[in-house]
Amino acid sequence: ELKPASNSYLDDLIIPVERDSIIQERENATILMLCRNWEIPGVLQSMRSLEDRFNRRYKYDWTFLNDVPFDDYFIEATSAMASGKTKYGLIPSEDWDRPAWIDEELFEERLQMLKEKKVIYGDSKSYRNMCRFNSGFFFRQKLLDQYDYYFRVEPDVEYFCDFPYDPFKVMREKKKKYGFVISIFEYEDTVTTLWDAVEEFMDTYPEILHPNNSLSFLTDTTMVGRFFPVVDSNTDYNLCHFWSNFEIGDLNFFRSDEYLQYFNYLDSKGGFYYERWGDAPVHSIGASLLLDKNEIHHFDEIGYSHVPFETCPTSISARLVLRCMCDPNGESNIPIHPNSCLMRWWKNGAGKLFIR
Ligand code: GDP
Ligand code: MN
Repeated sequence: ELKPASNSYLDDLIIPVERDSIIQERENATILMLCRNWEIPGVLQSMRSLEDRFNRRYKYDWTFLNDVPFDDYFIEATSAMASGKTKYGLIPSEDWDRPAWIDEELFEERLQMLKEKKVIYGDSKSYRNMCRFNSGFFFRQKLLDQYDYYFRVEPDVEYFCDFPYDPFKVMREKKKKYGFVISIFEYEDTVTTLWDAVEEFMDTYPEILHPNNSLSFLTDTTMVGRFFPVVDSNTDYNLCHFWSNFEIGDLNFFRSDEYLQYFNYLDSKGGFYYERWGDAPVHSIGASLLLDKNEIHHFDEIGYSHVPFETCPTSISARLVLRCMCDPNGESNIPIHPNSCLMRWWKNGAGKLFIR
């Protein structure tokens, strides 16, 4: 049976969402947070929100990663907040620190350059380690070996609505490999030569691209709705990316030879350090090139906030049933905002029709 265009699973909700029953069936998945000890207030705030809106009924494990050991208070407070098990991992230096082959002189020069351009985190060394780690190493941490799916959470985020389903189950049942809620433009100064590297990669390994890829989401012929002025743009990349502070993904995609080949190619260019390549454009471009567009999923019903943007379900019935606390007409609601790349995602054509 063919159903009309929709990415919505609310069709499946014949009765209002059950709010209190404990669900016994779980996927092989963990909630994942990379963070620092001093971020504990924001960590607890994010945990409380996700537990309340989703996890208290499922009790998925929480996995915490850090480049230095977590302290006792962090471990006690997060264990107390979690409904599921908690695990704490120390990232090995070789997965986190700047590799020895980075040219230190050039690196310092470029830090200064981005600082002068007033690029956010332009002169931060640790932010670059974080972006490279999230691009190429998080899925290789020992603690994640046992899992198939992860749900990335950051400190100080909020989930505005009850989850109408287990998103991990949606991923497995619908064969999704990458899930997002918000898509926006990247700061061009952070990715000056990223697209050159990607084009070189595509020229070198054309067979690695998925035949039903989302290249059309990343490049456009028009600049309509583009927020950051691009008069000087040297790149065909439209700067669209999935905002990776919210991510639900299949770890096996990132572990694949194809993704690793892609990551290693980019890494060898040094752009994580000489520029400030973010894990968001790197994941987004990787998923867009290597996956079938139908393997990437926009979670339309999840209300979410990470300063300065949020997303709130448009449908009033969804907002009521899911007890949302957000305003779809608010200034920072992103789906239909000119800063949003969501229209480009729709135009890219994924998920137009479901065959049920
Ligand atoms: P923004 O969202 O781009 O402004 O960057 P954040 O400061 O939120 O950093 C992104 C994620 O990486 C968050 O989960 C942070 O807690 C984490 N993070 C950033 N820098 C570090 C770091 O140096 N060490 C650790 N352990 N986590 C970090
Ligand atoms: Mn953040």
